[in-house]
Amino acid sequence: MWQEISKIGKKLVLQGLASAHFGNISIRKGKKILITAHNSLLDELDKNAFVEVDLDKPVPKVKKASAETIVHQRIYQNIPTSAIIHTHSPFAIIQSMISKESVLIPQDCESKYFLRGIPIVTGEPGTSELADNVAKALKNYHGVIVKGHGTFAYGKNLQQAYLVVCSIEQACKIKYFTDLYGYFRKNCNRKKEKFKRTEK
Ligand SMILES: [Zn+2]
Repeated sequence: MWQEISKIGKKLVLQGLASAHFGNISIRKGKKILITAHNSLLDELDKNAFVEVDLDKPVPKVKKASAETIVHQRIYQNIPTSAIIHTHSPFAIIQSMISKESVLIPQDCESKYFLRGIPIVTGEPGTSELADNVAKALKNYHGVIVKGHGTFAYGKNLQQAYLVVCSIEQACKIKYFTDLYGYFRKNCNRKKEKFKRTEK
């Protein structure tokens, strides 16, 4: 089972969706969760890089589970799902910091169809407040961005959660560059107009 998580960890790092130990992955097994350990390198996960915790009980510190285990627990407690991925995807973080909206609407057709919207929530890492905000947002969407922090996505299996993480990053990247293009075009046109006026 850990092999499947390890495979996804490698893909996340290869595609630039996560780097070093910035992110965590879990799967649910009944009333238990198998989650990456604190400070695990996502592209070097072996069988010792995981911790099994209870779904409903606070995690003892000696377990050395990921700092975001509380968020994973809260999602599983509220949503009947089997896999969760958390990444520090760069374009998702950028969009969460510059967007004034509480729900981003993807501009590309695939992401729009697949995600419908991407909520942005707040909360300090590893806190109950963050866990509540993320779990609440995920009742209506498959993925969420924590402002200035990263993406949480869930699925009935790891592949599905991985697709959501990829789709969120794709949507944020496309929005970033189309907005940038729009900004430069607008400023370019303004300069052209000004130039024309001074020429007359
Ligand atoms: Zn994080």
